[in-house]
Amino acid sequence: ARDAAEPADETELAIEGALRPMSLAEFVGQQKVRGQLQLLLDAARIQERAPDHILLSGPPGLGKTTLAMIVAHESGRPLRLSSGPAIQHAGDLAALLSSLTPGEVLFIDEIHRMARSAEEMLYLAMEDFRIDIMVGKGAGATSIPLDLSPFTLVGATTRSGLLPNPLRDRFGFTAHLEYYEPEELERVVERSAAMLNVDLPRSARAEIARRSRGTPRIANRLLRRVRDYIVVHGSASSSGVDLGTVRAALELYDVDDIGLDRLDRAVLDALVRRFRGGPVGLGTLSVAVGEESDTIESVVESYLVRIGFIGRTPRGRIAMPEAYAHLGVPHPDGALR
Ligand code: ADP
Repeated sequence: ARDAAEPADETELAIEGALRPMSLAEFVGQQKVRGQLQLLLDAARIQERAPDHILLSGPPGLGKTTLAMIVAHESGRPLRLSSGPAIQHAGDLAALLSSLTPGEVLFIDEIHRMARSAEEMLYLAMEDFRIDIMVGKGAGATSIPLDLSPFTLVGATTRSGLLPNPLRDRFGFTAHLEYYEPEELERVVERSAAMLNVDLPRSARAEIARRSRGTPRIANRLLRRVRDYIVVHGSASSSGVDLGTVRAALELYDVDDIGLDRLDRAVLDALVRRFRGGPVGLGTLSVAVGEESDTIESVVESYLVRIGFIGRTPRGRIAMPEAYAHLGVPHPDGALR
């Protein structure tokens, strides 16, 4: 159901890969996190050891995978990619960890979805580079210790609140990625446009940035849709791509004026019209729009809260006056006055 924020097919994934910055210097925005990571990498290099374990949290598409790749690239270490849902038993993790080469960077995406039994194994692995493998059952069960090569774990999660404290505490460095400012996204679009050979005036780049929900992945995706549109229709004016071309292209993809997509609008609509502005629980809201509550919380709600459309209260989510205005529905308080 999610169009703009998730990678679509293989071609799209390949382009996404090609647009990934390979160094911290090329990585746009997130200045504080970049500075902290640079220090961490420099310290590891000077002391000739594997960098500390790193936890990155934040909504999809903000650069967590990219940063993991940069950590590997900048420290000259190989990278192994895995994900929480792929680790459903402690055995899956044991196989993964015991096959790492010395100093390898292990990226585990959606680490909050890893099996509980594997989580416990990971504690010891992160701390002592050692795991205990259980053999046998019941009274005859014994554990066989296994030494691992030192590695750097980079964990990514859209929901850091779901990580058990003992796991979170074992990361030497944790960073939360924030949504990007329009100026930063404009730089992402500028960089990608140059790489894709699309010639766009500044106003067109700014329009794409403004409608990208603070998310570089979406900025790149919208840029490609605009490029497709230009390939098929040509640009509207003889002097090149104008704002109208960009707007026409984005309209085709259900991206509204401020970058909200269908799911964002469905959630707002349910909250404002069906639940009369709330408060309403997240579970109820996700059932109403037919989407997993995990997605609603980490993707939709986090952005709508950030732009001040939704408020979180102890009794549930409420619609803010800005949400009414955007939908063109009169605010109840306004009607009373
Ligand atoms: P996540 O792992 O958080 O879902 P990714 O690291 O896969 O996000 O990033 C998605 C896309 O957005 C990548 O193709 C990458 O090129 C681009 N991107 C993300 N962050 C940045 C950034 N800071 N600067 C430039 N491009 C970025």
